[in-house]
Amino acid sequence: MAAAYGAVSAESGLVPLTLARRAPKADDVEIAIEFCGLCHSDVHATRGEWGAQNYPLVPGHEIVGTVNRVGSAVEDFAPGDRVGVGCMVDSCRECDSCLEGLEQYCENGMTGTYGGKDSRNGGAITQGGYSSSVVVDSRYVVRVPANLDPAAVAPLLCAGVTTFSPLRHFDVEEGDVVGVVGLGGLGHMAVKLAKAMGAAVKVFTTSEAKVPAALELGADEVILSRDEDAMAAANRSIDLIIDTVAAPHDLNPYFRTLRVDGALFQLGLPAEAMPPVNPRSLMRRRLAYSGSMIGGIAETQEMLDFCAEHNLMADIEMVSADQLNEAYRRMVAGDVKYRFVLDTSTLQAPAEEADA
Ligand code: NAP
Ligand code: ZN
Ligand code: ZN
Repeated sequence: MAAAYGAVSAESGLVPLTLARRAPKADDVEIAIEFCGLCHSDVHATRGEWGAQNYPLVPGHEIVGTVNRVGSAVEDFAPGDRVGVGCMVDSCRECDSCLEGLEQYCENGMTGTYGGKDSRNGGAITQGGYSSSVVVDSRYVVRVPANLDPAAVAPLLCAGVTTFSPLRHFDVEEGDVVGVVGLGGLGHMAVKLAKAMGAAVKVFTTSEAKVPAALELGADEVILSRDEDAMAAANRSIDLIIDTVAAPHDLNPYFRTLRVDGALFQLGLPAEAMPPVNPRSLMRRRLAYSGSMIGGIAETQEMLDFCAEHNLMADIEMVSADQLNEAYRRMVAGDVKYRFVLDTSTLQAPAEEADA
């Protein structure tokens, strides 16, 4: 049995739970979880903001831990290895997307690390990383570089790869100007990664208090997005915008900051509808309005290796299990620099009666 924290309804908040994890099958890796990042998606999902969920629901898809044991067919991992698991634990492995290493866009639907239907394991609902252990097929496990702090690596498994993937897709390089909208978990990784790729970075924030912190992170310029004059001054100055805002907001003012052939990648998935995009905003500069979802497994490893090379990690605030609900409240209020990470050693050992 594994100790865990999860939601038992959309209104319950997070409460202590006990989970049954499967015994590792031939291709599986059993991981003793050390750290799990708190993603805003965990808030959306546990609160039912993205539609009905199966409860109890243990969130968490920024998992770092050490391998406990491996199945008989596993060759790439051994007990004691430090590994990571991100947002996916399975996909069909046969469709064009899977074969291209784009498992996140699996045509038959990837299996999310939590709340997903685990069809290769009897259709059980997957349960995530706010937990003491997890069992995952080795194809969906990545290696954590030894030179990085494992707690600060955890957020890379979602926030890191979700921002790395569109930056790479757009071939960001030296000379490009990247705009980052929203300075939270995803946003701060977008700043670090874009800088490491050689771009100049402009941060758009609603929080005046984050201006010095954004500059410290490496931003070349910080624009208060509610200041119309500051927005107007950024006219036609950016090649690519990475939008990470977790709430509905008007994109049209951001399109005006893009140059011809620029693109805006929307990564945030607010619970409510966004104000409409004006087609004219797109046409006047041949802009692309795109979305992007996490990254593939090989790309996740590529991102981790890139971070190892550039000594990049998330800026984290460690929380114990009993601080999770407060951490969610602070995340919704925008009060985090820049990612909460759960120290899973603070989870209660499963109670004896729960085994019955
Ligand atoms: P986060 O740490 O909470 O950061 C979101 C940031 O958005 C805030 O720090 C804030 O930045 C800005 N914001 C502005 N107005 C806001 C409002 N009314 N409510 C909340 N935030 C507001 O969240 P995150 O973990 O980075 O996730 C951001 C979004 O991306 C979420 O919707 C999440 O579900 C989604 N997501 C998508 C993917 C994907 O694959 N596409 C992956 C992970 C997460 P400022 O203070 O700077 O304005
Ligand atoms: Zn996430
Ligand atoms: Zn597939």
